Amino acid sequence: APVRAGTPAGSGPVRYLDPARAVADRVEDLLARMGLDDKIGQMTQAERGHITPAEITRFRVGSVLSGGGSVPTPNTPRGWADMYDGFQGAALAAPLRVPILYGVDAVHGHNNVVGATVFPHNIGLGATRDPELVRRIGAVTAEEMAGTGVDWNFAPCVCVARDDRWGRTYESFGEVPALPSSMTTIIDGLQGGTLGGPTSVLATAKHFVGDGGTKDGDDQGDAVLSEEELRAVHLPPFREAVRRGVGSVMVSYSSWNGVKMHRNRRLITGVLKGELGFSGFVVSDYNGIDQIDGEPGFTREEVATAVNAGIDMVMVPAEWRRFIILLREAVEEGAVPMARIDDATRRILTKKVELGLFERPMADRSRLGGVGSAGHRALARRAAAASQVVLKNENVLPLKHGGRIFVAGRAADDIGTQAGGWTVTWQGAPGPTTPGTTILEGIREAAGGSAEVTYDRDGTGADKSYDVAVAVVGEQPYAEYQGDRVDGLRLDETDLGTIGRLRAAGVPVVVVLVSGRPLDVTSELPGWDGFVASWLPGTEGAGVADVLFGDTAPSGRLPVTWPRDAGQEPINEGDGQRPLYPFGAGLTYG
Ligand code: BGC
Repeated sequence: APVRAGTPAGSGPVRYLDPARAVADRVEDLLARMGLDDKIGQMTQAERGHITPAEITRFRVGSVLSGGGSVPTPNTPRGWADMYDGFQGAALAAPLRVPILYGVDAVHGHNNVVGATVFPHNIGLGATRDPELVRRIGAVTAEEMAGTGVDWNFAPCVCVARDDRWGRTYESFGEVPALPSSMTTIIDGLQGGTLGGPTSVLATAKHFVGDGGTKDGDDQGDAVLSEEELRAVHLPPFREAVRRGVGSVMVSYSSWNGVKMHRNRRLITGVLKGELGFSGFVVSDYNGIDQIDGEPGFTREEVATAVNAGIDMVMVPAEWRRFIILLREAVEEGAVPMARIDDATRRILTKKVELGLFERPMADRSRLGGVGSAGHRALARRAAAASQVVLKNENVLPLKHGGRIFVAGRAADDIGTQAGGWTVTWQGAPGPTTPGTTILEGIREAAGGSAEVTYDRDGTGADKSYDVAVAVVGEQPYAEYQGDRVDGLRLDETDLGTIGRLRAAGVPVVVVLVSGRPLDVTSELPGWDGFVASWLPGTEGAGVADVLFGDTAPSGRLPVTWPRDAGQEPINEGDGQRPLYPFGAGLTYG
């Protein structure tokens, strides 16, 4: 069949541009005007550093992302809006005027944007046990996204992290399926219920399925599990996400019993779309189709396998041209049925129509002022406080207002470290990468005017004259793979040295652990008077201080079982092992 770009004037009245018509009617009208190239364009997602606006117009590419490996993105809210509008304007210049979906990982607030409110990572939110708080966080994240135009969020990760050696444990709400399931309220916050609201963004449940269940906690590894266990542990949060109307689902890099998820038609099409009744669209992970045959670079066969498995949009950050050519060839030779192409395109267009993108394609700049607003930061502070888990307290907490306090540790005065990965850049970085309040600043403020707070990063200078010493230590920022600790879960030598100097001063020591997962503290713990799991609290360090001083009562509870050492991994609730702290542990001040 001859292939040509469609045109709105092609046949009959242009129903798809009429917001008064039913979504399905609009989508069918648009689909009927599209040629094969238009449809394949819709199924293609390119990364912003690898495509120009002119190429968007020419190839009618359906989506652009700023992802992990992205070249630097603009870092002001207004810069983002300008960039977004540049791409969107180019999409609207094509004959059919189909808007793009711009996607980002706003996994703890609109975290790519300098100045945005950064919330605790999911593991801390799991500790709050507060689905309504998490829904509000989703709504605020969506509001901050709306000003910059970005329409689509690759969140939430609803993974069930079963092995703390996995470097993405921090992206999990917890190890028990009911916990991530309960936190799918964030989808309601992001999508605003019906997707058509003024600040609605498309949410993504990821990574389908079993990403948190891989052998030895290997990132992108193999989940060696019976179907019964896969369904019992890893599927429930997806079921709940679908029930809430999540608009998209991202496939996992991982394998299930040796088969890459990106080729698993039975799970993607059979279980997700069939059994669970998912009516949104499925997106691949970043270059995920490359991994299907284990050889670098994707082939026509891999493209056909992924699309036939049920992947509707393919994240091909740099090689999007190659994808377009190969998918076209696959269709022409009959390897991918036209019905599959129509189904994928229909699913994508349906979400674009539902989002109101045809009516409101451009960034809503009137909302730029909301990015990092005082109200949003107050919510993040409350979330940080609610996520703190007090695990040990030998009459040292809450800290007294007005006392003499010595503070040390690499994470004490460092926004980048307390925010972790996916903050301004993919991996995150230590240092003042974005505005916020460090934990030290929070402590100074909470301690009060008459207090004396002394800070020394490595703990030298601590002596007996202080009432208490607080060591804020833990992990350095990372986003994926095995995190910053490939060899077990031991505390860092630097941190152990800092804590050791505080202990040598002979004052009570409180350790505040800033980390994405439990670390092995078993042999040191007897020497600590207080121990607080702070997770990755985000930009509002004052929330941590609120709990340290008892201005907010501690209420966080462990979202994961805390092992004695990495040798116990995988360790999970109810598996009969004796952990250091059980799932659900968390003290109050009584
Ligand atoms: C991650 C996904 C993420 C994607 C786009 C991948 O490396 O696994 O979680 O959404 O990059 O940035």
